[in-house]
Amino acid sequence: MQGIMQDWQLTVDKILDHAAENHGRREIVTRSVEGPIVRTSYSELHSRAKQVSAALLDLGIKQGDRVATLAWNSARHMECWYGAMGIGAVLHTINPRLHPEQIAWIANHAEDRILMVDTTFLPIIEGAWEHFRTLEKIIVLTDEQHMPQTSLDAVPYELWIDGQSASTPWGGFDENTACGLCYTSGTTGNPKGVLYSHRTNVLHTFMTLPPDVMNLSSADTVLPVVPMFHANAWGLAFSCAAVGAKMVMPGAQMDGASIYQLLNDEKVTITAAVPTVWLMLLNHLEENNLDLPHLKRVVIGGSAVPERILRAFEQTYDVDVVHAWGMTETSPLGTLGALPAHLVGADIESRIAYKLKQGRPPFGVELKIVDDAGKRLPRDGETSGRLMIRGLAIAAGYFKGEGGNKLDEEGYFDTGDVATLDEMSTVQITDRAKDVIKSGGEWISSIDLENIAVGHPKVANAAAIGIYHPKWDERPLLIVQPAPGETPTKEEVLAQLQGKIAKWWTPDDVAFVEEIPLGATGKINKLKLRETFKDYTLPTA
Ligand code: ADP
Repeated sequence: MQGIMQDWQLTVDKILDHAAENHGRREIVTRSVEGPIVRTSYSELHSRAKQVSAALLDLGIKQGDRVATLAWNSARHMECWYGAMGIGAVLHTINPRLHPEQIAWIANHAEDRILMVDTTFLPIIEGAWEHFRTLEKIIVLTDEQHMPQTSLDAVPYELWIDGQSASTPWGGFDENTACGLCYTSGTTGNPKGVLYSHRTNVLHTFMTLPPDVMNLSSADTVLPVVPMFHANAWGLAFSCAAVGAKMVMPGAQMDGASIYQLLNDEKVTITAAVPTVWLMLLNHLEENNLDLPHLKRVVIGGSAVPERILRAFEQTYDVDVVHAWGMTETSPLGTLGALPAHLVGADIESRIAYKLKQGRPPFGVELKIVDDAGKRLPRDGETSGRLMIRGLAIAAGYFKGEGGNKLDEEGYFDTGDVATLDEMSTVQITDRAKDVIKSGGEWISSIDLENIAVGHPKVANAAAIGIYHPKWDERPLLIVQPAPGETPTKEEVLAQLQGKIAKWWTPDDVAFVEEIPLGATGKINKLKLRETFKDYTLPTA
């Protein structure tokens, strides 16, 4: 027997319809690429997104066609999103920090027909133009007045949508229709495309809202520093509109001073970004003796939250930190560190200890850890294994079948992360499977070593990698980037680790480098480090 209820397809156009109808005057504030702060509203954004739809239809874009963006977080970027998604096209967000040839590779693989690009990134396209094979039209996200000289057949966005109808119909297609495409940065092999559906994006939106997740309300002002090309700005491009929260978009400026200015001027209550961004902000606050009177909550993920950042927000600035773990393949939320009942009101040290972990899954996410043979491991908070995930918005595979079947017999996806789980499903990521250091058959967590090392004031960044050892197979080498003007010694760095790790985890050596290389998503590029140090001989070898 079937229920007798309405059929209301879960498509993302309904999210912006809802925002325009119920929160029409709520603002979307952008630090524009042209310079000035620009203000628009959900109602205006809705009309302009419909104009984008009309302009795309004029270019012959059909359901399932890929429309790409290479853009900062801005109201215009939001318009492109909803404009493409609303008519059933697939919005493909490209990460501009990738190498230009890799960008072309991704655009070709996705078979992008249209590219909407910020002026900042136009030179990337011009420089690699010979490699792009499927692009038919370039739309530059600016007006005629600011349109740069270009050798490409490109039109300014404002001119392109000018005069287009603001009442193009949206939706009317199946909720399982593809909606968005996002490639993972591919630290191994070629990048792979994660193809979100309307249904999974809408369900993920519902999942992000509750108090134990991102805790969003129409009264909030949200600054997504996390880029829209990183898994939908962790869903915020949808969830802010779903509740009618005011949005503040940072555009191209993500340095400490610029972010502080937005937080303060716009009275931001919730913000989200990777740890690197918060380090820059915290430095700015300290140097200028500033505080954060409006900010209630900061969501931090993408890599483990260093204790220094956690303590600064919680203890110095009285801002609640939500430590989140996820990946492009998980839409991206997997787990979040809202305090469980028994820790609400607990002493600060217990709360800090909990928040250093990656938190727990919201409803809609299931987790397990397994050994290399796929056998379930105990949830004792100590045993670590491969973290496997199943849920309402988790990838089943990659675009065009790259990489083959990605699910195990129970339908779980292998995250490539190594973690412990406790009986409440609290996750602690100990490593990425490919980064774990295997010493005498036992695993050493590179993340732990790095996080403790960066706690030393003379250390700006640290990375631990496994180096060949004749007896133990691999032993850890700690690579350190000193803080500006500092010259830490090996002894000082190792002393920082002492007592905080098992003795046998102590790195066999410390190497100092001017700069630790970062990848396109701002994470340490271990592949590059392993290459640099491939002939390194440990003093213990
Ligand atoms: P990639 O870096 O491979 O392009 P993503 O940007 O999707 O992919 O990043 C996902 C990965 O980032 C996770 O698999 C995990 O290794 C790491 N990660 C994300 N959040 C956290 C966190 N809070 N703590 C530790 N690692 C994290």
